[in-house]
Amino acid sequence: MNKTKMIATIGPSSRSKETIKQMILSGVDVIRINMSHSSFEDARDIILKVRELNRELSVITGIMIDTRGPEIRITELEKNKIKLFAGNTIRIVKNNIKGNENMISLTLPEVINYIKVGERILLNDGNVTLEVVSNSSDAIICEIKNDGYIKSNCSVNIPKANFNLKFLSEYDRETIKFAVLMQVDYLALSHVKDQLDVLDVNDLLIELSDDHIQIISKMENKTAIEEMKGILKVSDGVMIARGDLGIETGVENLPLYQQMMISKCRAKGKRVIMATQMMSSMKHSIRPTNAEVTDVANAVLSGCDAIMTSDETTMGEYPVETIQNMKQICENVESYYRYDNKYAYVAENKTEIIASSVVNAANELGSKVIVAATMSGHSARAISNLRPNAPILATVPTRKVARTLALSYGVYPVVVNEYNSTDEVINDGVAQAKKFVELNSGDQIVIAGGFPNTGKKTTNFMKIEEI
Ligand code: PEP
Repeated sequence: MNKTKMIATIGPSSRSKETIKQMILSGVDVIRINMSHSSFEDARDIILKVRELNRELSVITGIMIDTRGPEIRITELEKNKIKLFAGNTIRIVKNNIKGNENMISLTLPEVINYIKVGERILLNDGNVTLEVVSNSSDAIICEIKNDGYIKSNCSVNIPKANFNLKFLSEYDRETIKFAVLMQVDYLALSHVKDQLDVLDVNDLLIELSDDHIQIISKMENKTAIEEMKGILKVSDGVMIARGDLGIETGVENLPLYQQMMISKCRAKGKRVIMATQMMSSMKHSIRPTNAEVTDVANAVLSGCDAIMTSDETTMGEYPVETIQNMKQICENVESYYRYDNKYAYVAENKTEIIASSVVNAANELGSKVIVAATMSGHSARAISNLRPNAPILATVPTRKVARTLALSYGVYPVVVNEYNSTDEVINDGVAQAKKFVELNSGDQIVIAGGFPNTGKKTTNFMKIEEI
């Protein structure tokens, strides 16, 4: 059983019910739908399949909708794919045209007003670099810095420019309304720059009366790195979106940025997801490379809550095998590695103080399981943030709460009836623990809970229970 959670992005090669089923059976905890590439109709179809599988397999798989964000793309080209040559120039025009080797246009044409001479523009996931040599109000002229291909609708990154673009486009507003309507569990926000972007989304969620969806801010540009403290304050977690982040900030910066982001999330008790190119070679190969295996292992060792697949499972030939390999790597590392918690938060409130005692006790006693009775999921998350050696069995009142724990390291939710006394919390906790792991006479498990239930965040006791 992997403690590090796994997110699989669904696409053409994985959208059949059977493939999603096999991926869930192989350890996937959350299904991601990327609205940069998916229609609402396709997204709905995937969500319904996951819901059906949750019922059929008695599992609790969360669903993440990933917004398009204020991204820029090339508009359509005359041919689907064209080659650009170093030393030539290319014009980026404001009018919407069908592009070719000499001239292209962008999905957000107004951005050309903000790009200065000397700035770099990266096309098609950074495969072609342009440098702006002159600009006017209706076009910019760029020198092509390297040979490479561009495709219709391929990505455009302009790292230095400051556009002042509105964060929430009409399409993203529709996406968020759709996510709320479909009661999905996680909303991943693309191209967030600062706290205000996330607060815009929060306002919309309040307007839509949503109090369930968890916000995951994607860290994919330099400004977001600089503004991370504010972003973390208003997000439930972050995704280290290494694809765009590497293009925007330079791939050489990724190793240090990712360590920095993981430690900041741990210190604030927020979820952290490592994403992109974890198993890239498995798009066409049944075996991962040694470097990919090490990358996944390092994500676990550094304290990520979750790891994520992208085109390995959307376009690849081996979506299920990719998940199976990742699970094996996680389990192997988790089976011997012990976290020392030097990055973890300093306990500040009752729940965190109890969580800290629970983890100390369970580690000292060598408990096989920790039971967290939790109404909102909050106390299970607080315990998970301290990365105990034992798995955390969270007893929760609803499947909805259970799904919000799908991204928390080492947490396994089970839905139970509401408790009416402290004794019930403990007795049922022991009963559930016995179903979850093999417990023998003399084993000591740790149970944390809150009673009476006065609403949210009522954790007020822990008990060491000897079997
Ligand atoms: C990324 O850029 O790494 C990422 C996860 O974003 P997306 O897959 O939406 O491009």
